[in-house]
Amino acid sequence: GALHVARTNAFFMGGGKALVNAYYRSAEELGVEIRYDSPVKGLELEDGQFVAAITESGERITAKSCVLGCGGFESNLEWQREAWGQNERGEWTAENFLIRGTRFNQGVLLKFMIDAGADTIGDPTQAHCVAIDARAPLYDGGICTRIDCVSLGVVVNREAKRFYDEGEDFWPKRYAIWGRLVAQQPGQTAWSIIDQKAIGRFMPPVFDGTKANTLEELAVKIGLDPATFMDTLNAYNAACRPGTFDHTALDDCRTDGVVPAKTHWARVIDTPPFTAYPLAPGITFTYLGMKTDETAAVRFGNVISSNLFAAGEMVAGNVLGKGYTAGVGMSIGTAFGRIAGVNAAASTGHAHPTFKEELAYAAGH
Ligand SMILES: Cc1cc2nc3c(=O)[nH]c(=O)nc-3n(C[C@H](O)[C@H](O)[C@H](O)COP(=O)(O)OP(=O)(O)OC[C@H]3O[C@@H](n4cnc5c(N)ncnc54)[C@H](O)[C@@H]3O)c2cc1C
Repeated sequence: GALHVARTNAFFMGGGKALVNAYYRSAEELGVEIRYDSPVKGLELEDGQFVAAITESGERITAKSCVLGCGGFESNLEWQREAWGQNERGEWTAENFLIRGTRFNQGVLLKFMIDAGADTIGDPTQAHCVAIDARAPLYDGGICTRIDCVSLGVVVNREAKRFYDEGEDFWPKRYAIWGRLVAQQPGQTAWSIIDQKAIGRFMPPVFDGTKANTLEELAVKIGLDPATFMDTLNAYNAACRPGTFDHTALDDCRTDGVVPAKTHWARVIDTPPFTAYPLAPGITFTYLGMKTDETAAVRFGNVISSNLFAAGEMVAGNVLGKGYTAGVGMSIGTAFGRIAGVNAAASTGHAHPTFKEELAYAAGH
């Protein structure tokens, strides 16, 4: 959506961990036994039906049905590297990827299922891929490493050149394309450049930017060629047309006569101090998954398994092709998770509680 973050996002006390812990608590109260630190390395399948899960320690866990919810393969840097390949400069496009979430989504079971002949859907290079602070940790940087000032300034690559319209659309709508754009630049890196006028208009990043009182000094401090940097900034500044700046609307502040154009919120970068934030591609989650339908059942050669289901990122490709729609990440876990759970239980002969029974249970908690 294009609304302000405070109107589109609910930030829960305790974050994602609190949410997951609430699920664990409810499950334990219902008598579900939870194995921690027990990675599953493969499944035992028979004619497309689930028989058992095999843990890394060699334990064989049999069950009448199974729901796979092990995420995408975003944390598997080798797989990412292989999927994205090399660019025309011979660089590995995924070289500089930072993974915004867990290190554990290595795609072990996704790979297992692909090798076992499960039907798949989605392109392995499609992912929710945003530009984040290049100083973020390799894993688990979370939302505080986002750099949200792209639309308020310009973005230059390692050659000190602009490469895309920073004001194409509202930031919440466009931010999921910038990781891919940065991945295509030399060294898979870029810099977001703003001046004092932008301060206070975006969510402050967790790490301070590099500051300088002149643009030349800023270029030197961030290691870019000052002459090219000044050519880029001077060309941009000269192209800014007068308009009425309004960051809450697709305003009429645009450039004229510079390539690439900046089509909204283009204001001259002239008020010190100037700030630069280093950008790297931040991968939130990958889209390649197992093909399914409204039953959340896994398929082999278009034959539906009667007791093996999948949810969340493992089925992302069914919903997401390219780009992103806000909230889909959590929704495919919640919606498909519920469908998969209901159908997995039904496949073993358990009737799903009625809505009234569910409400009564919820009221007691
Ligand atoms: C920084 C960040 C911000 C986000 N913001 C949003 C947002 O604003 N809105 C939104 O909708 N979505 C957002 N998402 C995406 C969303 O959080 C995820 O897509 C969603 O939580 C994925 O759910 P899942 O159940 O598929 O996978 P996960 O929640 O990742 O769970 C997979 C689990 O499987 C475990 N696992 C992996 N392999 C194995 C194995 N072999 N054996 C056993 N266990 C295994 C992992 O350890 C993990 O616990 C964000 C994600 C990140 C990282």
